Amino acid sequence: MKFLADSMLGKLAKWLRILGFDTAYYNSVSDKNLIEIAEEEERILITRDKQLSRCWVVSCLYIKSESIDEQLHQIVKYFNLDIKETLGKFCPLCNEVLKEVEKKEIKLLVPELVYSSYKNFWKCLKCNKIYWEGTHWENIKKKVKELKGEN
Ligand SMILES: [Zn+2]
Repeated sequence: MKFLADSMLGKLAKWLRILGFDTAYYNSVSDKNLIEIAEEEERILITRDKQLSRCWVVSCLYIKSESIDEQLHQIVKYFNLDIKETLGKFCPLCNEVLKEVEKKEIKLLVPELVYSSYKNFWKCLKCNKIYWEGTHWENIKKKVKELKGEN
């Protein structure tokens, strides 16, 4: 299941990528273009725009709340999304597929303490950002637990 988030939903797009879902996001694109992209790339359009969500050309979901927690709950429940408790496959920043890299490959690219504290690292081949299951990961795991409890 692939998504396309409208410009109001940048934060939700990031979260969906972290949770492992391919989610496209552009911060300035017309409604017409959004629909074209969704149609062409077979993505479900998620939008805060009620009018746009009535579009019949592509599948749309109107996101009711402004709160990120409620948005996540709505979408997970609505599509019954299967959330894995591993790092998402997609770069939260650019939606590129992350590649697991050998630890030695990134030795010079991360702080020493990070290098010595973690075992698994992922790299985005588009923006070159390195990811690991750092302190931030605890919050993500908490969120995943919460969301799974909702299902
Ligand atoms: Zn990236």
